[in-house]
Amino acid sequence: MLYKEYINILKINLTEKTTKIEKREDLFEYLGGVGIAVKLLDEECKKKKDALSPDQPIIFAIGPLSTIFPCMTKTVAVFKSPLTEEYGESYAGGRLASSMRFSGYDAIVLEGRSEDPVYLSIHNKKIRFKNAETLWGLPNKVTGRVIRELERGRGYRSIIRIGAAGENLVRYASVNVDSYRHFGRLGLGAVMGSKNLKGMIISGKKSYPIQNFQDYIKLYKKINTMVTETDKMKKYHDLGTAKNIIPLNEMKSLPTRNLQKSSFESAEKISGESFGDEVLMRKEACVGCPIGCIHIGMLKRQFAPDHEYEFTQVNYDYEPIFALGTMLEIDDPSDVLELIEKTEEKGLDAMSTGVCLAWATEALEKGIISEKETKYKLRFGDKKNYLKFIKSLVNQENDFFKALSRGVAYASKIYGGEEFALSLGGNEMAGYHTGYANILGLAFGARHSHLSGGYAVDQKLKEINSEKIVENLLKEEKNRCIYETLIMCLFSRGIYDLKLVSQALKSIGINKNEEDLEILGEEIFKMKMKIKREMGYDPNKIKIPERFFETETLHGKLEKDKMKEMIEIYKNKI
Ligand code: SF4
Repeated sequence: MLYKEYINILKINLTEKTTKIEKREDLFEYLGGVGIAVKLLDEECKKKKDALSPDQPIIFAIGPLSTIFPCMTKTVAVFKSPLTEEYGESYAGGRLASSMRFSGYDAIVLEGRSEDPVYLSIHNKKIRFKNAETLWGLPNKVTGRVIRELERGRGYRSIIRIGAAGENLVRYASVNVDSYRHFGRLGLGAVMGSKNLKGMIISGKKSYPIQNFQDYIKLYKKINTMVTETDKMKKYHDLGTAKNIIPLNEMKSLPTRNLQKSSFESAEKISGESFGDEVLMRKEACVGCPIGCIHIGMLKRQFAPDHEYEFTQVNYDYEPIFALGTMLEIDDPSDVLELIEKTEEKGLDAMSTGVCLAWATEALEKGIISEKETKYKLRFGDKKNYLKFIKSLVNQENDFFKALSRGVAYASKIYGGEEFALSLGGNEMAGYHTGYANILGLAFGARHSHLSGGYAVDQKLKEINSEKIVENLLKEEKNRCIYETLIMCLFSRGIYDLKLVSQALKSIGINKNEEDLEILGEEIFKMKMKIKREMGYDPNKIKIPERFFETETLHGKLEKDKMKEMIEIYKNKI
């Protein structure tokens, strides 16, 4: 046997405090990753019920190539999103995929609600529910440190945890994974909080023999050389995703000042180059990646008046720089780091938080809301009040903060300013204002997080042809479904074409040619759309805020009629 012919599922019920291991041969047809996760979600999810209802499941899954080939580093989490009340999907790197692989589980299904706060301790077959009352309320970093201390031991370990935002059910709370990676989007942190689940540590020492080791190692070396000795992934190692700031700015695709603009006059100051010069300390990698795109900056600040400095390490990427930098017109790398650090500490999705702050600032400027609601005089470029505001938001200190903790679409419906509340299908926008495909992908697409693929389609367009745009977007989305079954870091999609994926699978005993993979991608795409519909997704109800049409994109200002035409074509094709 080269690769086991069944999928190992660990099921944990937090209400009953029971565990069960299932071997599912039938799931093998979905290969792994998002394929099996979506199938399990279809089986377990109470689709019409509230996302924070105790019996809603959280499903984590890895793929057949996890840890076996370079850049196969991600874990997918699927759930019903409390932010959109429909399909939620999020990806994280770090050590989680390798820890799941070495503990022997392809997927973990969490259900129920613990009466008291707990964290889960999973070490191969030894699974424990540990009291987390003393951890409740602690910031992410501290929680990670304490669990590490409490769970001394060896093996491949990963620790995931939530902060106060998850505990307080902020609908865009994130889950921190091994300090510098996250399940950021769509509110997985709130789903964990609703289960009274503070965190999970997972480790294992299992290994998988590879029978035809000679062939495998030959292919491994070939791929590793492509990753490390060509230019394909150079940008991720050198400046990281922050390198995107300058090109997107030049393309008029960098959302700035709540998307009042699509370029930022101070972009240079918070570019990847400036972060590299001014704050970069070190780089890290997810387990199984030779690139190391995780850029960690040093935040130095005065501890208190008349006291010396303290230093902390904060991970930065393109998306948090857009959300907490350009959207708020913050133009100093250290100020951006401080805001990122605050979202980390509280366990918030940086993207949704930045978009909410930007909307609140503009709404205050326009007099739609007052300081009675916001408590602080928010101003673009003013970090200090944003830091205080985030704290009040997480604590939900008044009705306004309570509303905003449900997302910018929800708050703007109550207070006004919907035309500049930058949400697509209930989720706050991502850091691209590239054109039609980006909006279409984020609002209507299957993935519905920040990497729907639309931004990539926009950047390759030669002309605005509605049929072609939709066709290319669907092709990109289905293609990503294939990679998401594996489960690969999407940064390496320039390395792994389908032929290479097929060869990699073959080396561990899975026969799937390029056509099989394409059929699988199509099938998974359809499964996601089916689940979305059953959860209440109705494309006819989705509104695109005016602001998206007012601000220049890479392709000039977008036309509403063209957009409508593309939406109709997209709807008819899915
Ligand atoms: S490129 Fe970055 S995100 Fe992707 S696997 Fe490597 S370190 Fe992780």
